[in-house]
Amino acid sequence: MKRLLFIFAFLQVWLWAATGPHFDTYFLPKTLRIDLYQTGTKTESIISIDDISIEPTYAGSLTNLIDTLNLGQHYLKVYDLRSDTLIFSRGFSTIFSEWQTTPEAAQNIYRTFGLTLRIPCAKQPVKLIIATRNRQNELVEHFQTKIDPNSRFVRRPPAVQRYQPKRLIYHGSPNQKVDLLLLPDGYTRKELRRFRQDCQHFTKVLFNTEPFKTLQDKFNVWYLEVPTQTSGIDNPRDNFFSHSNYGLTFNSLDLDRYVLPFDNKKLHDIAGCAPFDQLYIIFNSNKYGGGGIYNHIATCYARDTIPDHAWWPDYVFVHEFGHALGDLADEYYSSSVAYDEFYPPNVEPWEPNITALLNSQSLKWKDLVKPSTPLPTPWNKTQYDSLPYQDSAGREKLLRSEKYWGTVGAFQGAGYVSEYLYRPELDCRMFSKSLTPFCRVCQSALIKVIRFYSE
Ligand SMILES: [Zn+2]
Repeated sequence: MKRLLFIFAFLQVWLWAATGPHFDTYFLPKTLRIDLYQTGTKTESIISIDDISIEPTYAGSLTNLIDTLNLGQHYLKVYDLRSDTLIFSRGFSTIFSEWQTTPEAAQNIYRTFGLTLRIPCAKQPVKLIIATRNRQNELVEHFQTKIDPNSRFVRRPPAVQRYQPKRLIYHGSPNQKVDLLLLPDGYTRKELRRFRQDCQHFTKVLFNTEPFKTLQDKFNVWYLEVPTQTSGIDNPRDNFFSHSNYGLTFNSLDLDRYVLPFDNKKLHDIAGCAPFDQLYIIFNSNKYGGGGIYNHIATCYARDTIPDHAWWPDYVFVHEFGHALGDLADEYYSSSVAYDEFYPPNVEPWEPNITALLNSQSLKWKDLVKPSTPLPTPWNKTQYDSLPYQDSAGREKLLRSEKYWGTVGAFQGAGYVSEYLYRPELDCRMFSKSLTPFCRVCQSALIKVIRFYSE
């Protein structure tokens, strides 16, 4: 009998190790929403709790509770308090961590940004730990708290839906799909019809691009019709200020084309009306702009009225989704950005599509490189750099004439850095401002994330 019990216990441990924690053992099919503030300077970061509440549904995977992707600037771990078992984890990035690399942060002033974490609602008290990568990319734990979801300190707002979610594409239960939620900003009530058309347009653009085209059945697409009082969003450099739904503004982190939402609570109050894994704000503007932060937000302008630029929003929409869904790094290095030394030298970036190539034997996309391809992979960089940035046709022509065009290797110039970072292919949607597809490494990284969320 003892032996049988031992075998049973062993089997239980083995099953847990093979499958991870079981959703029904630890969680209810609801969302525990944790609103936080991140405050600090270039080198200091303090996280504080603002509000904790329970939302009536949960759209995430019921199977993949432990995050094995190793993406994002931060990493959340949730432990069952009684058994000290890791029951949930997620990687994510924040506006604050980007802000820390800006010249403003270098002046040693303090700023505060909101962030919201959504996890399945635990049945019993849990311990939350947040770890953040240091400049060497090691995850360092720096925030810890206990939450009892049954306590009076957790709000249970009445389940009144302010906005009714509309389905654009539906392939099955939100627990088994990547749920993409499209939110409008800067559309007045009269302009919402236009928003619906924009949603349809961008959905078509996305699912015409690989790997989304092949994996379309892994997605649901939803939208909410949320009007604003005035048309357009804030554009400080033109002294134009509107009534954004979520504090959405151009000139985020003092970069004109960078558009981010700064009223995080309003954003999540509205987004909570629909199931989602990924939030995408389409804003009513014809001024070039957008942004994307891993597991937080993507934004894109709706249209371009300059005839030659009509395709630009299509480029932006897919590019920014690459950041938000796949934590893909920018592969370009010749366009101005908001950051100072975003990637420190001699440190391997965690993003799947750029490398410091410190050791070519352990290149993270080595399985996609042919043995005959040299590393680093030579290309005519000096000539490319001599062409003006605006000459995109000339640049593309030059790339296409390269010996290693269409080959996966390691090409110098990536992640805003001309010298010490490398990208996987000569061209990619994360490299050039064009409708070029994602390179094979970016595609394979996106496929991994899509599968993780849709199991
Ligand atoms: Zn790429």
